[in-house]
Amino acid sequence: MIEDARRISPDTIIEADLCIVGGGSAAISVALEYMKSGRTVVLLPGGGPHQTSSAIDLYRGRVERPRTHEPLEENRLRMWGGTTTVWGGRCIPFDAIDFEERSWVPASGWPVGLDELKEYIARANELSEAGKADFDARSVFPEKQAEILRGFDDEDFATWPLERWSIPTDYSKRYRTDLEVASNVRVFMHSHAIHLQVDPGGTRVERVVAACKPERSFQIHAKQTVLACGALENARLLLTSKDILPEGIGNHHDLVGRYYQSHRFGVCGYVKLRDPNKDFMYEFERDNEGVYCRRRFWLTPEAQAKYKTANVIGFFFRAVSDESEHRNAMVSLVMLVKTLLGGARKGPKRLMEIIKDQRKELLSHLWIVLNDAPSLFGQVGAVVYTRFIQKRRLPIILPQRKSNHFPLFYQTEHVPLHESRVYLDPTSTDDFGMPRLVADIRFSEVDYHTIRTFVNQFKQRMEQSGLGTLHLSNADLDFLAHPELKKFNSNAHNIGTTRMSTSPESGVVDTDCRVHGVENLYIAGASVFPTSGHANPTLMLIALALRLGEHLRSKA
Ligand SMILES: Cc1cc2nc3c(=O)[nH]c(=O)nc-3n(C[C@H](O)[C@H](O)[C@H](O)COP(=O)(O)OP(=O)(O)OC[C@H]3O[C@@H](n4cnc5c(N)ncnc54)[C@H](O)[C@@H]3O)c2cc1C
Repeated sequence: MIEDARRISPDTIIEADLCIVGGGSAAISVALEYMKSGRTVVLLPGGGPHQTSSAIDLYRGRVERPRTHEPLEENRLRMWGGTTTVWGGRCIPFDAIDFEERSWVPASGWPVGLDELKEYIARANELSEAGKADFDARSVFPEKQAEILRGFDDEDFATWPLERWSIPTDYSKRYRTDLEVASNVRVFMHSHAIHLQVDPGGTRVERVVAACKPERSFQIHAKQTVLACGALENARLLLTSKDILPEGIGNHHDLVGRYYQSHRFGVCGYVKLRDPNKDFMYEFERDNEGVYCRRRFWLTPEAQAKYKTANVIGFFFRAVSDESEHRNAMVSLVMLVKTLLGGARKGPKRLMEIIKDQRKELLSHLWIVLNDAPSLFGQVGAVVYTRFIQKRRLPIILPQRKSNHFPLFYQTEHVPLHESRVYLDPTSTDDFGMPRLVADIRFSEVDYHTIRTFVNQFKQRMEQSGLGTLHLSNADLDFLAHPELKKFNSNAHNIGTTRMSTSPESGVVDTDCRVHGVENLYIAGASVFPTSGHANPTLMLIALALRLGEHLRSKA
């Protein structure tokens, strides 16, 4: 059932077997799995079907050191469906090495392994409509060349790993009917959890206090509670609920909000190939179910151990906004539309800031579009069709191969650091009186070393293989010499604030995602990841959410 929390009388008490706080992919995945038990579930999605300005305001916070993180309300959607309402749909599993303790990656090692999670990754992939969970070009496309460039792969690089792309599935629309018709599920639109009330001993959640407006609160009395509000809000709710435990729930060891991770990503240099028309698997391919797939350059686990880097991949992309010299009118048009529409969605103030911030690049894109307008006529129709009319969307408009200009995009694991964290701002609260967050994200020498090594080894391999050259500008060389952060955007990859561990001294949740020391409180989402891998987080977090739903279902 889908109900409107604004119609609930103040102080109402709702009973349920399970209360799930959140309405994104993590929350919906736990619900879909748990509801099979026939027991009752309540979802509090933290908003309604549309994002409102008052909901956006609930996410506002502060960034320690300007420009080291995007504004906290920028990439997060406080609404039913969460960020799946806008996500790109890139699905990538974690690699076996991501779960290992690596001496050169501090705080690495998961208390669960890939083998244990494989079946859930497969189900997460299905739920995301990204096809069969086979991420190996050698078996998905056996009749084709496995490498991106024939003759490129060696002991340092493998290019057969695939990423798969979801439709992209908006979980709020795709699974709405399943939840609506289920007699044991109640979704309360426009409801926000504002407090977790634990018993006097601090070992059980007795009730979740929720509200749709500041003066209209109600309560959920549930046997079990799952927080699935995204990595920043999961930490915030635990830290805010401190009437019984002054340090916050699950925070005996000052770990809630710590080890905050994302990824490092960006474009460094561009490749010019000897022959872009020969033995080059560049564009998206569709598997036998029509799912878009693409290969990527992966620094092999052996090479990661040899060079002591974190996990890292690369692929050919388009230039990002501060590098518009690729001179492709279609790409420039897409960049302009995306930047301006994306900014407009965030409100006029943020749009003006974005225009001011990126004025030079936007003008440069506009110039390219105006100069090359005739070339757009044929392309726009095809792009509108593949991007917006086809049920399964073409994930990205890539520059044409005939340009022979392929910007190298890298995406690295972000090494977990104790001092990288979010914490409560003692000076500011939201409309519900909840302290806002401060984000203080940090990167380490291993992160810088990983980018530097990946780009340098890639350049060397390109030249050794005789397949082409990676061109690095002075700005690229300068960046590689000092890849410290001046400006950062997490792109909604928020990871690790309630990390998983076997003991409470080293993490916040146990291997069942239960908060250490609290018998009936669980967490779903990327906040439980001990390390970030290089992979975009959603597939993995859905896998863990399904595993959690199954665990809760199996409990008496
Ligand atoms: C533009 C964009 C593109 C992306 N592309 C990709 C991609 O291609 N691949 C990928 O892997 N990832 C991608 N992501 C990231 C991905 O969307 C997230 O990793 C993932 O959806 C997170 O799911 P979640 O359920 O944990 O959190 P969210 O989606 O953030 O959902 C959190 C939910 O909790 C609710 N909530 C918050 N606070 C409260 C509260 N106090 N009470 C009740 N409810 C609350 C919110 O309303 C929301 O429903 C992208 C993100 C963005 C913004």
